[in-house]
Amino acid sequence: MDYAVIAYYHFFHVEDPHAEAKSHKAFLASLEGKGRIYFAEEGVNAQLALHKKHLNAYYQYLQNDSRYEGVDIKIQWFDEPPFAKLTVKGKKQLVALDRKVDLSNRGEYMTPTEWKEQLESKDANTVVIDVRNNYESAIGHFSGAIKPDVATFREFNQWLEDFKKEHDPKTTKLMTYCTGGIRCEIFSPLLKEAGYEHVYQLKGGVIRYGEEKGDTHWEGKLFVFDDRLVIPLDTMKENTIGSCHFCSKAADTYYNCANMDCNALFVACSDCISNTSGCCGTHCQHTGRVRAFDSTTRVKPFRKLAHDEKLALSSGK
Ligand SMILES: [Zn+2]
Ligand SMILES: [Zn+2]
Repeated sequence: MDYAVIAYYHFFHVEDPHAEAKSHKAFLASLEGKGRIYFAEEGVNAQLALHKKHLNAYYQYLQNDSRYEGVDIKIQWFDEPPFAKLTVKGKKQLVALDRKVDLSNRGEYMTPTEWKEQLESKDANTVVIDVRNNYESAIGHFSGAIKPDVATFREFNQWLEDFKKEHDPKTTKLMTYCTGGIRCEIFSPLLKEAGYEHVYQLKGGVIRYGEEKGDTHWEGKLFVFDDRLVIPLDTMKENTIGSCHFCSKAADTYYNCANMDCNALFVACSDCISNTSGCCGTHCQHTGRVRAFDSTTRVKPFRKLAHDEKLALSSGK
């Protein structure tokens, strides 16, 4: 495992996100880095891969810039970079919500240890909310969590309106989690604005929790926004809760429909995906532009994925 898959976000004032992106990109390119890094006025959100020989140089680069002080970097190891290219861009917002939030009004952090203890001792007034999209929670989530049926982060605005009708802000305690923590940073201020006083968020997200606690209280696997798509929290255990879109058998491999005009993201088992040549249904097999499907190669997301371009923690523009 020679490649470090690095994830971090950090809030600080970025004067010129585009200029910032340009210089960061130049440096990362010199280290042969690949991944997606977005700058916005409120800070940076990064997912990238570096060969282990370049890791120290990158650390040094961040360390030499005082704005990155206290940045919380998560690292996983993989045998190849799970990104096809290097994208570093300036954006309007790090997480697309279409409204301003007061980032300083967030919930209280819980470490993985505190989170685990709370899960084990929580009362009936405590609600655990999965702050990710429906296709992410479908293949893995904390036991007993509410999994909002939303396809984009923006939809959480409406979801919260409905949630509030059923859960009294005065008495309900909320615990939120997401992949790496950034979506909770944006969502917990919304919960507080909505009147919830007791809001807690998992620091470092499921990635950090998995590092420290394995898959305790976790069902299934973790969806990630790179070519790995799905990773286990505990590599030693087979833990599949997703099901094949066609036959409902246990499965958690994601495919993009091989019909490029459809491109739907769905879970399928190996038998069914071979039967449809990589398509989401027979309709797609026979209409439109269909890419060749090879069941023997490692599945990688199609480059122009809707989720890649629109949902990967970017503003979409
Ligand atoms: Zn199947
Ligand atoms: Zn399709």
